[in-house]
Amino acid sequence: MPKSAHKIGALLFCPDCGTLLDLPEADADSVTCEQCGFVEPASSYENIVITTKSHPDAFPSALRQKRKTQTKVHESGETRTIVSEQCPACGHDEAYSVNKQMRSADEGTTVLLTCVSCRHGWRLNN
Ligand SMILES: [Zn+2]
Ligand SMILES: [Zn+2]
Repeated sequence: MPKSAHKIGALLFCPDCGTLLDLPEADADSVTCEQCGFVEPASSYENIVITTKSHPDAFPSALRQKRKTQTKVHESGETRTIVSEQCPACGHDEAYSVNKQMRSADEGTTVLLTCVSCRHGWRLNN
């Protein structure tokens, strides 16, 4: 099996060096690790991409500042809990839940779920 990125919530991390991988460009078919050059296929994001509507202003300035030197800022401001949701991929009934409050109220809350067992990721919109 080829190596693939580690998924944590909606984020992918390089399996070689642990760097947070950027989201793929709209028409790109892969993402390259800035640190070591590892290439992750963009298809890995299919189940978990939720940030297409977000823009730099969605992050408080303190976090944006931090991003210049530290790549894991996206974890800030998220709360992760284990909830009982059935995984659509393997049927396991526990998943990590990450609540993301969207900036505008009418976008509501998106709950990101990651299967505890198989790491399949999906999302629920309230
Ligand atoms: Zn890397
Ligand atoms: Zn699963």
